[in-house]
Amino acid sequence: MNVKATIKCNCGQRIVAKDVMQTGYYLRLFGPSFVYVKFRCSRCKKLGEQFVKQEDWEDGILKDIPSEATQEEKSSFKAMGPISINEAIDFHFELERSNPLADLVKTVKIEETPEADQPAE
Ligand SMILES: [Zn+2]
Repeated sequence: MNVKATIKCNCGQRIVAKDVMQTGYYLRLFGPSFVYVKFRCSRCKKLGEQFVKQEDWEDGILKDIPSEATQEEKSSFKAMGPISINEAIDFHFELERSNPLADLVKTVKIEETPEADQPAE
């Protein structure tokens, strides 16, 4: 996705659809028309407003920044559901072990079998 214009709060946080409280058009007979956006920033909670030239306004402008996760990763995360309290507790105890990172690296290496899912060439 290539977005030419984004809306940003003064604190630098990108404004997405869920932050928007009000939008409107500011139409002019001459010169560019503007889209007016009133928002509450999700990071600093301050109200802000911005005028965006109508020609710069496009569907992607209020969409979340594309995540780095691939489609397979996304559906895999979705299938896992939200992190449960039991998982959080397990994680807490994992962190109390002597060297959890080294163990984690071992686990990841064992689970990594990249050729298994690839279609044969
Ligand atoms: Zn902000």
